[in-house]
Amino acid sequence: MDTEINKHPHRRYNILTGEWILVSPHRTKRPWQGKTEKNNVEKRKTYDPSCYLCPGNSRAGGETNPDYKSTYSFENDFPSLLPEAPVKDFENGLLKAEAETGICKVVCFSPDHSLTLPLMEEKDITQVVKLWKKEYRELGDKEDINYVQIFENKGEIMGCSNPHPHGQIWSQKSIPTEILKKSKHFKEYWNKNKSSLLGDYLKQELELNERILAQNEHFVALIPYWAVWPYEAMIIPKKHYQHIGQLNTEEEKAFAGIIKKLTIKYDNLFETYFPYSSGIHQIPTDNKEYPEWHFHMSFYPPLLRSATVKKFMVGYEMFAGPQRDITAEQAAKNLNELSEIHYLNH
Ligand SMILES: [Zn+2]
Repeated sequence: MDTEINKHPHRRYNILTGEWILVSPHRTKRPWQGKTEKNNVEKRKTYDPSCYLCPGNSRAGGETNPDYKSTYSFENDFPSLLPEAPVKDFENGLLKAEAETGICKVVCFSPDHSLTLPLMEEKDITQVVKLWKKEYRELGDKEDINYVQIFENKGEIMGCSNPHPHGQIWSQKSIPTEILKKSKHFKEYWNKNKSSLLGDYLKQELELNERILAQNEHFVALIPYWAVWPYEAMIIPKKHYQHIGQLNTEEEKAFAGIIKKLTIKYDNLFETYFPYSSGIHQIPTDNKEYPEWHFHMSFYPPLLRSATVKKFMVGYEMFAGPQRDITAEQAAKNLNELSEIHYLNH
């Protein structure tokens, strides 16, 4: 469906957040004068004695990591949230604050310092999925935890200084802004149509087949129509699940498989350890019912046209709203033309 609108400046609507993004496809024709050189990717060591996440090493907080063989999670030594809040909410005129409590954890994906998700075996990524499930349940079961955010910051460009394969989980008492926004749109659609907003969107995307990157029996990876980041992608379960705790053994494996497929494509795009922030959006753990919700995992990678040229969210984007040049369809096409085998394994 290559519509006329795709060739000219237009705005696309994000059905999940209600926000708009400006798309300027004509600008991809302008000459590029920036840097385009390749990154020199060095092969990493499997163990780094100075890494605070490697098995057996001491952490900054004084603890020592066990000699773990698969995945390993622990409470962050420098957490952004603390379980106890010795303060009360505050309001004075137009000044308003709320005490916030929570638990922050670090999740090591593998004992091998040299790996990343795309370089890990599917069976080992499945162990990561199992640990995410366990943490989502255990943290979510706590009385004061009403939301659990699972995420990964990958690459120095994303502010992650340690290359050891790991992610984080921040769980807290309040429900964060992005979740509230999506809840509103899921609910409005559910009340009107009695079906899943994301489930119906997925059906349409599968019919059009313009932005699909990969799929298996249980999951689809695609570039959302309203993507902001150049190669932003989303993994959506085909079943209408509200959270990852609902995945069965076979679905855990399928989730791991599609994560591997997508991240291999990412690495192959600019032949680098492709940086991104990824996160899973799912229902709050406040014991309320959210039948309208459809869990999903999003990837926000900053790279634009090489291993070193990133997209900056500045100027218009800071003051008005996000904008992109390369269309979501072109981004999908670029990724779909790449090999499914990691470039380091060729
Ligand atoms: Zn390490």
